[in-house]
Formats: sequence, C-alpha cells, structure tokens
Amino acid sequence: MQASSSNDLSSDTHFWKTIWNLKTPPKIRSFIWKACRNIVPSNALLFDRFHGQFKAGPKCPRCGECSESLEHVLFFCPFAQAVWKISGFGYAPEIRGFPGFGLWWKKLSSLNGKGLFSDGLNLISFLCWNLWKSRNGFVFSAMVESPVQLWDRTFASFEEFISSSKNPILSSSVRASCSSSFPSPSSWLPPNYDFIKVNCDGAFDSASGNAAAACVFRDSSGHIIGGDTMVFSTSSANVAKALAIRLGIVTAINAGWSRVIFESDNLGVIFRLNSKAFIAWESAAVEEDIMALVEPFQSFSFCFVNRCCNKVAD
Ligand SMILES: [Zn+2]
Repeated sequence: MQASSSNDLSSDTHFWKTIWNLKTPPKIRSFIWKACRNIVPSNALLFDRFHGQFKAGPKCPRCGECSESLEHVLFFCPFAQAVWKISGFGYAPEIRGFPGFGLWWKKLSSLNGKGLFSDGLNLISFLCWNLWKSRNGFVFSAMVESPVQLWDRTFASFEEFISSSKNPILSSSVRASCSSSFPSPSSWLPPNYDFIKVNCDGAFDSASGNAAAACVFRDSSGHIIGGDTMVFSTSSANVAKALAIRLGIVTAINAGWSRVIFESDNLGVIFRLNSKAFIAWESAAVEEDIMALVEPFQSFSFCFVNRCCNKVAD
C-alpha cells in the first residue's frame, strides 16, 4: 500500500537507530524494522509481488473485505480498531491520508516521552507485533481470539518483560507512565503532608488456589498507622492483587481516611484502574467494585511501584 514510506526513511540513520534502541525483545524490534521497510508479508504485498499469482488473493482473511496491507492488519481492520479502542491509548487512526507504517512510526517516535508516555512506544511495539502474530495465528492455525484477549495478552507480556528487566530507567519510566503526577522512587517514599499512602500486596499459590492480601498504611513521616491482612481462595494472581487494593480501600473507609495513595506492584491492575478499562475477565468485577468504593474519597490515586518499594511487612 505505501511502499514509498520506506524510501523516504532509508537515509535517516537516526530513525533506524531509534528502532534498534527500543526496549523490547529482539523479535519485536525486528518486526518494527520490517514494518518500517514495508517487507512484512501481508496478502496485499504478496499479491503485488507475485503479480497476482499468489493464490490466497489480496483480501484480509479476517474481515474478507479490504486489501490486506500491513496497515490494514495493524490499524484499519475492524478487529484491529477494536483492539486499539480497548487498549487505553484511545487511538483511532484515519485511513484517509494515512502515511504508511514507516512515517507513522517516525511521528510516534518523536512523541515518545512528550505527547506519549515514556514507555508508550515500547508498549505500542508490543501491540503491533501481537496484532501481526494474531493475524498469523488466524491464517495459519485457525486460531481465533477476541480483541480483549489480544490486548490482555499484549499487556501481560509487556508487563512481564518490564518486570523481568533489570533496567532501572525502563522500570522507572513505566512507573511514571502510570502515575505521572508522582515521582519515581527507587525506594519507598512517604506521601506529602495531608495524604496517607497504602501499599497493597497479594500473593497467590496456583497449585492450591490459596491467596493472601495485605495492606500497610503510612503517614507523611513514614510511620505505620494501620493495616490489615486476609486469606482467601481465588483463581489468579490478578484477583489476589486487586483484592489487596480493595482491602486497602475498605480499611481506609473504616478508619475515616479519605486522602489516600494506593500503591501496588501489579502494573496490569494499576493500568486498568487508571484507564477504567476492566478487560481482564477474572479481575474485572473486583476492579469495578474498587472504583465504586473509592468514589466518595476526597482524593485518591492508584500508582505502580516496583516490588522493592511495595513491601508490606518489614
Ligand atoms: Zn480485515
């Protein structure tokens, strides 16, 4: 569709360098590089290249309507549009005047850390790669997944990559993205005067289904002023982490605290609470309940912190 987009970029060495500097697994960097060079083998590209001899034809196998360019797979197929819609990016690209993937990516790169949160570009590269992977699963293995499943899988793999990364800059930028109004500490920081901070943590044993949640409240001088724990059975770590935040809220309500910062080391739960996108089916009910419970608070925020900053028991 937009073969010219790669030509316009071919001499831009800085641009290609930014792709290789993406904080993603190499397979994802490599995919973005291929996408910018317009060599990802979509049906439309293969159909063009083989002068119509390509048996499958140029159409999108998923919606069956349009010519399946890479841009169709990643942005304009109704399936892709649904994924972008629930992703929390609130992005709905227009097909009219779309410049092609390469120039789109260049524009996006220039927004990184400005209009786009610091790790947004990395997360978007995960999303694009997963959209392509999902397309391949559909074409070659008849695998069908919903837009919600795809986004959930994307975010989980992004989260796993971030939390397994030892890169402190990367970790702190994700923290910042989820709580841009708060600093990104490398160790626990007390809240400002007039606020209370609660660290919420949940643990889950998949073999037995046993789980535990704990919350610890501290004031602006760092003194522990309250807390609670509970044990229960559940089905996933997501639910255990969400229930830990819920426990923190209920404890705060009972104590009469209504200016509270809730911290958790589960990026997925924090992201979903901040974006109000309750897309993880197993924890959606708890997350919706959390938002209802917290509504009467004078002030509240949900912040992601590294595990090291979220210790609930010293
Ligand atoms: Zn389509």
